[in-house]
Amino acid sequence: MSIAHQLQAVKATLNEGVTLIAVSKTKPESDILEAYEAGQLDFGENKIQEMARKYEALPKDIRWHMIGHVQTNKIKYMASFVHLVHGVDRLKVLIELDKQAKKNDRVIDLTLQIHIAQEETKFGMDMDELMEALALEEELENVRIVGLMGMATNTSDMLVVRREFDHLRHLFEEHGAIRGWTVLSMGMSGDYKVAMEAGSTHVRIGSAIFGARNLA
Ligand SMILES: *Cc1c(COP(=O)(O)O)cnc(C)c1O
Repeated sequence: MSIAHQLQAVKATLNEGVTLIAVSKTKPESDILEAYEAGQLDFGENKIQEMARKYEALPKDIRWHMIGHVQTNKIKYMASFVHLVHGVDRLKVLIELDKQAKKNDRVIDLTLQIHIAQEETKFGMDMDELMEALALEEELENVRIVGLMGMATNTSDMLVVRREFDHLRHLFEEHGAIRGWTVLSMGMSGDYKVAMEAGSTHVRIGSAIFGARNLA
């Protein structure tokens, strides 16, 4: 199936109101253009410089989502254009995003990445770090926390996955209701249906649209 067809097939399975972020990391610009011409505007990348190169080359109405681990020394390459930074997992990232957003005379929207998986290797904040980030946001003028992001354990046991996503939704409701949060970013190709059942607002889907990635 073509990318346009796969995109339509995925879209047909989304709950109403759920935003699809097409994860185009490692994929060529021609693949992104094909999805763009089929109507897709939100794309996700996990390397800042790769995203910046693609931003330069592609239509300017594309909304670029940084979904990967953020290295603070690279934030300057995306600060002028990034639409939403999903993987903010350290206070240092929050501070540097604020600084670079200020230089660009804008406000950068972000979600805090929370550690919900059992694996040690997945990035994300614990509860203490979440509270610190919420307190720090009050002092920063050029970043705005709009919600939470998380990645579930990589397992075929969907009960485990569901429990982890439910946990994230509870945190989202607990802290987001009074703050007007709008983004609960959870769900990838293998688990987005479970994520939507658990209340996801933004799903990040790569391989189901663009096909499998070559391992670098
Ligand atoms: C690669 C990636 C995705 C998309 O993964 P697929 O399994 O290809 O859908 C989603 N979220 C993050 C954070 C990723 O790094």
